[in-house]
Amino acid sequence: MRRCFYSVIGLLLWGSLTMGSEETTNNAKNFILNHESRIKPLEIEAGLAWWEANTTGKAEAFARKEVIQNKIDAALGDKARFSALKDLFSKKNQIDDSELRRCVELLYLQYLEKQADPEILKQIVILSNRLEKNFNGFRAKVSKKEMTENEVREILKNSTDSIRRKAVWEASKAVGTVLENDLRQLVKLRNQSAKSLGFTSYHALQLHLNEQDGESLISLFDELDKLTRTPFMKIKLKIDAELAKKCSIALEDLRPWHYHDPFFQESPAIFAADLDEPFRKLDILSLCKRFYQGIGLPVDKVLAKSDLLEKPGKSPHAFCTDIDREGDVRVLANITPNEYWTSTMLHELGHAVYSSLNMPKDLAYPLRGEAHILTTEGIAMLFERFSRKSSFLKAMGVKLDNSQQFQEAASRSLKYRLLIFSRWCQVMLRFEKTMYENPDADLNAIWWELVEKYQGLKKPEGRNSPDYASKIHIVSAPVYYHNYMMGELFASQVHQALCNELFPGKSPESVVYCDDLRVGKFFQEKIFSKGRKLSWNDLTRSITGKPLNSEAFAADFQESTP
Ligand SMILES: [Zn+2]
Repeated sequence: MRRCFYSVIGLLLWGSLTMGSEETTNNAKNFILNHESRIKPLEIEAGLAWWEANTTGKAEAFARKEVIQNKIDAALGDKARFSALKDLFSKKNQIDDSELRRCVELLYLQYLEKQADPEILKQIVILSNRLEKNFNGFRAKVSKKEMTENEVREILKNSTDSIRRKAVWEASKAVGTVLENDLRQLVKLRNQSAKSLGFTSYHALQLHLNEQDGESLISLFDELDKLTRTPFMKIKLKIDAELAKKCSIALEDLRPWHYHDPFFQESPAIFAADLDEPFRKLDILSLCKRFYQGIGLPVDKVLAKSDLLEKPGKSPHAFCTDIDREGDVRVLANITPNEYWTSTMLHELGHAVYSSLNMPKDLAYPLRGEAHILTTEGIAMLFERFSRKSSFLKAMGVKLDNSQQFQEAASRSLKYRLLIFSRWCQVMLRFEKTMYENPDADLNAIWWELVEKYQGLKKPEGRNSPDYASKIHIVSAPVYYHNYMMGELFASQVHQALCNELFPGKSPESVVYCDDLRVGKFFQEKIFSKGRKLSWNDLTRSITGKPLNSEAFAADFQESTP
């Protein structure tokens, strides 16, 4: 049972009330308790409906999920409550307790988003659903034959025929043309809702709601651009040489369809060793269980509630969800024995340990979660990286047949992945910002200017298509993508701080945590137990002594880039 938030706060405030206003503090306490009693049952119900919908694919579960989401939106959109909250927010400095003050700040942002004209919000929901449905229903068509996403990827990964590759790549981009008009209209509607709340664009609103701002974000990405440009161009030369050789073409004839995924967001598979080989006979679950147990963050409770194997109707992706903020934490996965699913399970269980499972029971409801999307993605990415470290696999007892060759290939592929992903994130952030600031601009041209500048790809001659609209995140996860990149920076920075404290003298690249209980204690004390008490950047500062920056990330990919 949780201790009563009210009485805990009461004790904390004893003796310090003269500093602020007792009335404001009490009003804040009451608002938060009332919020919890109204919203928490709905959020649990929504979490359970979401779980059922995604593990079974049942239409009635999806419908139930939508109904509950509408109830939550209506509760948060309530004008009278928002006005009381706004009043509290404007007087937040009179609230004596920092946790209580933080609750008010977070709730204010949560309610603010739902204050736009309900008619516009409704239109946004209708249009987003239509776009998502059209996106999901789209199949690339080549010579009248429809292809699944996996078939497209298979050809981009394996075909040596440039003409075939081009046809498949172009067919996969055709979804952009299907969605273009709806997307432009949706962008304008989103902007309209943001403007009604006093923001210049939807991009600016979303950043504000996530306690970020466009200017510092761009300067962080500029810094990252400078650090990554030369090492990226160096590895790209090597990748290009391999890809051109594979398709028997000249370097200058390489085009976007010669890379192994539709956006060049991943490293092409050009390495000497087969990275899946050690995982084919591996019990991935047992490895994950032993690893997390060994660092003092056991996941048995999570695995017992999880849904981990493929089955009909189930979502093919992977997620982690915290149902009740009381320790009911579950992972949805579709494990098959390969490197991808090993890293994905390490990733999802990273989210699982950074949850209410490892947070103090007396933390107030609004604070019982990760500090930010970027901090939980960062922790998950930090653990995910281990599947490409041979020292980790050896320490976990995985047999590596050709150890030296695997080690080199795994380490190179990890560094390539970080660099390639960082260049791709530059395109995503800068494109989205421009699209929301000026939806009537020549978006086709702007997309390719950014792709050429940051990813070094050559725009196909004469191409003038809405290729940006073939990326699902642009359509249905707006103003989100930059958080993945910031998560990578957070992962590197936290790992470096942990190494300095617990493994002085060792290079961060060599530290893999196995069977060291101090590691779990470090995460729990410095990150998990804090919940949402600190903003993402204050949390970063409190763990590492510095604001979020690219230094540690740069060290991670530079050290042994051959
Ligand atoms: Zn994640």
